Amino acid sequence: MLTIPFQNSYGQLPPRFFTRQTAVPVRAPRLIRFNTDLGAELGVSAKDEAAVANVFAGNDVPPGADPLAQVYAGHQFGGFSPQLGDGRALLLGEVVDTHGQRRDIQLKGSGPTPYSRMGDGRAWLGPVLREYVVSEAMHALGLPTTRALAAVETGEPVYRETGGMPGAVLTRVAASHLRVGTFQYFAARRDIEGLRALYDYTVTRHYPQIEGPAHLLAEVIRRQARLVAGWLSVGFIHGVMNTDNTAISGETIDYGPCAFMDVYHPQQVFSSIDAHGRYAYDNQAHVIVWNMAQFATALVPLMPDQDAAIEEFTALVHAMPEQIETEWRRVFGRKIGIENASAEDAALVTDLLERMAEGRADFTNTFRGLLDGTARDQFIELDAFDKWAEDWRARIAQERDPEAVMRAANPAVIPRNHRVEQMIDAAVSGDYAPFDRLVSVLARPYEDQPEAADLRRPPEASEIVRATFCGT
Ligand code: AMP
Ligand code: MG
Repeated sequence: MLTIPFQNSYGQLPPRFFTRQTAVPVRAPRLIRFNTDLGAELGVSAKDEAAVANVFAGNDVPPGADPLAQVYAGHQFGGFSPQLGDGRALLLGEVVDTHGQRRDIQLKGSGPTPYSRMGDGRAWLGPVLREYVVSEAMHALGLPTTRALAAVETGEPVYRETGGMPGAVLTRVAASHLRVGTFQYFAARRDIEGLRALYDYTVTRHYPQIEGPAHLLAEVIRRQARLVAGWLSVGFIHGVMNTDNTAISGETIDYGPCAFMDVYHPQQVFSSIDAHGRYAYDNQAHVIVWNMAQFATALVPLMPDQDAAIEEFTALVHAMPEQIETEWRRVFGRKIGIENASAEDAALVTDLLERMAEGRADFTNTFRGLLDGTARDQFIELDAFDKWAEDWRARIAQERDPEAVMRAANPAVIPRNHRVEQMIDAAVSGDYAPFDRLVSVLARPYEDQPEAADLRRPPEASEIVRATFCGT
């Protein structure tokens, strides 16, 4: 048997916060992978593989679990849905990890819930492996994110546009699953008591030092500004930055049609459902401000003087672009070897990015290539790079250790789309070696790993993935 030291708190919130239910058992659970390091952090130890598979497929409810589906709302592509919720997920419960942090353990793909609408509550292998690989890579890159604790095959088919696909369940670990949309749910129903209970819960769980909703808003804005700047710095495109996919904890959450860019283009979109480019690479910095405005709106009913609150919250939201800009300058400055970049240094970065867009340069390999002189190979017109590099070399001559700074800011390897797709194709036909290899190489993204040179190579024309699909 598998023991998980649950210490649940969400289930003590009022009943209208969730629906208690258990997972729908599956036919033949088979463990794909258990994240042993993360398990150790959470106090989850797994000896017997079958027991692990049964628990993380949802077939066995481990002692102390309190499975429930959370309700929330959210703006999806700008339109408000007053009721969403865990349509294919179940919170098993919470544990307090070895650092004293409370973490959620959630099954994704565990069967329908009252919030499934037309969905089957299931996930197929592709999105489960994609989330496993990309979320773990994000963590290794040093960005706040939900984690992957386990992936299990269900032994049952899941039917999608492409036909019957192997079913799977992902076990996700999160600082919490509180979303901007959770606040919106209670605010939209004018359930002030519920909103207050949610606020109190959030403060206790994530922000014990804060005083009042304005302070909470300011803190969430600070974390989200840092997160989105971090995404931009590694070429990450979330793909579905709906308010229900924006976590109050400041973690990256809900890996659906997300992708890392190969060739740099500021308006790059991959998601097949993002027809208008709302969540394009560059727009993420604007959308997160919009999402924080929705969060602010949902907090207003908590305030005794709502007019004054609107004024105060508006000022906080309006100050966010500058915070993002500051974070952006910090992280991108480091990518070209400069600590504490100035406005002038930021212009040097922008200049490079413009030349990269024009030259169709590979985002990751250009920045990493600044270390070993291969950056210029990324450009069609070598001149474009050489001109920039002259100013850049003069500038970093004044820095103490630009190489060390760049090495820590520019990953050598990222989960490239074509590699993720190839890995999924292999897994569907029963070969998990590419999955295991991606997971292990991406655990050390800032190391050169010469044996993984093929994973650093941009896609050949025939390998380019132009669209990514939601995790449904
Ligand atoms: P997401 O794209 O993951 O943010 O999902 C949007 C909403 O659709 C969430 O409320 C999900 O729970 C729900 N959903 C997505 N896929 C499914 C599915 N296969 N079955 C039931 N609900 C789903
Ligand atoms: Mg979601």
